[in-house]
Amino acid sequence: MSMSMSLGQSLRQEQKLEMQLTQEQRLMLTQHTFSLRLALIGALRDEQYEPKARCPSCNHALTPIEIINGFNQDPRDFTTSCPKCQHRFAPSIISFGNGSSIELPFFCSAQALDQLRGKHLMTPAELSRHHPAVYRSAIVHHGTITKAFNALSVEYPFAEISDWRNKARPFLGRLSDRVIAECVEVSVKTITKMRDELGIQRYQWCKALAKLKAPKRREG
Ligand SMILES: [Zn+2]
Repeated sequence: MSMSMSLGQSLRQEQKLEMQLTQEQRLMLTQHTFSLRLALIGALRDEQYEPKARCPSCNHALTPIEIINGFNQDPRDFTTSCPKCQHRFAPSIISFGNGSSIELPFFCSAQALDQLRGKHLMTPAELSRHHPAVYRSAIVHHGTITKAFNALSVEYPFAEISDWRNKARPFLGRLSDRVIAECVEVSVKTITKMRDELGIQRYQWCKALAKLKAPKRREG
């Protein structure tokens, strides 16, 4: 241990470096992590999700992070705000699965929770079928329906994800163990153990950032 850093030391070092990131680097990482997390949430349910919002006023296509940042977190306000021209409009989320796709309203976290209220006796399949927009908005913001109900202090009695090991495996090391654990609804320890057993290195944001920047460098 004398020459090499302990995990705690290297984590602290990473946090220190993270504070020195430029705003652009920070945004790049946030967007990258958000899309990967969204891909994981979808993969766990054999679906794919894509938030979509093109400003009707200036035609700017909002990134998912811009859509989320533009929400008012008000259960009665369904709009997000265009970062370019501040116009407010309602965003959507496209859900791909089973060879088809459907465009649904994309609700903010507060709306998703508000509309989930009282529906905790519906199975995930029932929620997905009868309240497709609420279901998908809730998992995008909260990771799982169980977590969303937890935020309402309600216990959700149904298991949500089957065969998670195979579905989560491609995401090991590309997202932090904590994020994966949250989406799968198991302990962080379980994910760390699985990742270690497969010989996959833990996620490090600096490596992720280096990979994100690599294609640009080659162009120049
Ligand atoms: Zn606009």
